Amino acid sequence: MSFSEIRLNPTLLDKLKAKIPTLWINKDPEKYLPENAPSIGAIKTAKNRLKRSEQLLLSLFPQSLTASKGEIESELIPISKLQDFIHNKYSCQTFAHEAWFLKADHTLPVAGSVKARGGFHEVLAVAEEIAISNQLLQPGSDLLPLASEKARQLFSQYSITVGSTGNLGLSIGTLAAALGFSTTVQMSTDAKAWKKDRLRKRGVNVVEHSGDYAAAVDAGREEAKKDSKVHFVDDEQSLLLFLGYAASALYLSEQLEKLNRKVDKNHPLFVYIPCGVGGAPGGITYGLKALFGENVHCFFAEPTASPCMLVQLAAGTDKPISVYDIGLDNKTESDGLAVGQASLLVSPLMQSQLSGVFTVDDEKMFENLHTMYKTEQIFLEPSAATGLHGPICIKNSEEGQQYTKNKQIEFSNATHIIWGTGGSLVPEEEVKHFLERARIACKNNEKINDGRNKI
Ligand SMILES: *Cc1c(COP(=O)(O)O)cnc(C)c1O
Repeated sequence: MSFSEIRLNPTLLDKLKAKIPTLWINKDPEKYLPENAPSIGAIKTAKNRLKRSEQLLLSLFPQSLTASKGEIESELIPISKLQDFIHNKYSCQTFAHEAWFLKADHTLPVAGSVKARGGFHEVLAVAEEIAISNQLLQPGSDLLPLASEKARQLFSQYSITVGSTGNLGLSIGTLAAALGFSTTVQMSTDAKAWKKDRLRKRGVNVVEHSGDYAAAVDAGREEAKKDSKVHFVDDEQSLLLFLGYAASALYLSEQLEKLNRKVDKNHPLFVYIPCGVGGAPGGITYGLKALFGENVHCFFAEPTASPCMLVQLAAGTDKPISVYDIGLDNKTESDGLAVGQASLLVSPLMQSQLSGVFTVDDEKMFENLHTMYKTEQIFLEPSAATGLHGPICIKNSEEGQQYTKNKQIEFSNATHIIWGTGGSLVPEEEVKHFLERARIACKNNEKINDGRNKI
């Protein structure tokens, strides 16, 4: 898209170009979803497929899944120490019945990130379809037979391939290889070495591409087109991924109920999710909106260098617009969020669902990583730490205050959920490195701010 065609508010455009952290509010969400939008039934079907896969997954990954009996789910962890610390630090108004939680998808078994939800769902759906069409399985039945020798032999004639900077490749590659598929992960050369090693150890063919993520994705897509027995997992277009993420909402609503956290007009739910191409946060938002409607307020977190969903939504067009189009370089240390172009499957769905997007620079992201570790002893990978800034953005910025005023939102009984999207598989050496980087960022930021913290 040429520069003159971009319809962004000039003030917003200037802020984005200068990489000034911004909260953008989706002022005028359309009331209606596009006609082809997935139904709540489709989300339940995905949830049901994941349920039917528990025995299968348990048999494939007994070490990781014995405790959960094959279930791929995560805890909702109260983070009251972090909540108090942040409120103090930013002189933020607090309420007695307000509560902050971390949705601990960084601990999702086997894959260690939110990608376990979407990625596993897609691989399971593909394997199920192949097995059904080869009379190995009845539609709707338990998926345990997919671990049989017969099924393995069948799957070995098929390939699953994915283009990924990291976590999606880990998720898809691990499960597809375990089921016996010939599995290829197309990565960019700068993807983390430990992720490549881990996949290679599991028998996955890792192909490295110089250039960025988009190039890796295109390469995979092209390879797959040549062969009908190759399934390409398309991070930018996949409904199966999207529905796997959306299914998370059903379990989360049970968790909230168990904790006695109501969600209604007087008990609003705020959710903050890091966004790369948009599939994971989009799916989660879609599922939550289907359940909680106007009482849930979802915000995405993006790096100041890569606000791809923000520009796509703010431009209000169905034509693709990238962060390069507005002169940004898409360079950030948040592995997985360095995405120049948002998914065009997801952005039209978010146009009517998402409350807003906030941007975070790398220094603030590392500062938040440090804060989470110091207060709660929880390590998140850098990308996952971007979400932490959400509650402050909403409470302390003019835009956030305007949003809550317009919607007559009472904070007194609000539940805030920060989505911890990844971290538990990061090797110890890397964790040390990130924590040191985080400690220094925190110290430097304190000097710059002279004790007065802004958003
Ligand atoms: C993939 C990922 C995201 C964002 O998901 P998208 O589907 O790319 O938007 C956020 N955090 C982590 C750790 C991830 O791996």
